[in-house]
Amino acid sequence: MKTIGVIGAGQMGAGIAQVSAQAGYNVLLSDLDLEHAEKGKAGIAKQLARAVEKEKITAADRDAALANLTCIGDVSEMGSCDLVIEAATEREEIKRRIFENVGKVLSDTAILASNTSSIPITRLAQAAPDPARFMGVHFFNPVPVMGLIELIRGLATSDATVAAVEGFGKSLGKEIVHANDAPGFIVNRVLMPMLNEACFALGEGVATIPDIDTAVKLGLNHPMGPLTLADFIGLDTCLEICKVLHEGTGDPKYRPAPLLIKYVEAGWYGRKTGRGFYDYSGETPVPTR
Ligand code: NAD
Repeated sequence: MKTIGVIGAGQMGAGIAQVSAQAGYNVLLSDLDLEHAEKGKAGIAKQLARAVEKEKITAADRDAALANLTCIGDVSEMGSCDLVIEAATEREEIKRRIFENVGKVLSDTAILASNTSSIPITRLAQAAPDPARFMGVHFFNPVPVMGLIELIRGLATSDATVAAVEGFGKSLGKEIVHANDAPGFIVNRVLMPMLNEACFALGEGVATIPDIDTAVKLGLNHPMGPLTLADFIGLDTCLEICKVLHEGTGDPKYRPAPLLIKYVEAGWYGRKTGRGFYDYSGETPVPTR
């Protein structure tokens, strides 16, 4: 593989483009238009400059990575890509339209992959030019820091496609795990019930916000408590994934906690809105209950 296309230059797409460019791939980065893609590249340049300051990479490494990265205005310019990774907004109709557009220019051997965290891969594959050359490639946030990629094969994904994407993931220095196309894949299937349970416990008055977080952090040796983590991920995102687990399995054990629903209805999405289980307006987060 030589040329990688990344569609969506937001948090995840920019991270994927950055690590791919750093690994020596020729990267074409697109978003809604050239301006959005350039904004993504500017963010990458900032990240790389910080890495140089911290002496994690050299100035030459930064320059080489940026030289590997080209912003493009439209997916019709992705005809030379060996692998295209879609990391656009988590809405099925947006992703389907992207696959139809990029599908018109992809070669007969190119692989198309989606970074979706919750949409079934087998269903998305219906909009891809060839479902055998389509799969899920689930990176974690922030991409340059997190060492894992979950690979998800749809019903029609070929072994050759999985092997090629696994080789690509390993070349980025990431650990690879394989998941079947089931709601939440592996990480969210295990994580979200825990975060949701913390919301149930809070709603039922089992303990306060700081005590739930401290109990899990120190009692289970997690780097942060579940309510802090939910605020970091975004409570709206957590709720969406809980709904996918609930609807996808039909199992009531995955029903979203009423308090989680209430916070999302209030627009308290966590860090990104300045308030979730904690208030982030001051210097240190303050529990809201
Ligand atoms: P984001 O909002 O930061 O970025 C999404 C980008 O997609 C934006 O730049 C937006 O302009 C662009 N976009 C929207 N419509 C587009 C279109 N038609 N064509 C091209 N670009 C378009 O979101 P994100 O957090 O980077 O998430 C992107 C994907 O990654 C989603 O599928 C999400 O589920 C998945 N994901 C997110 C995380 C996470 O922690 N944030 C983790 C793993 C996977």
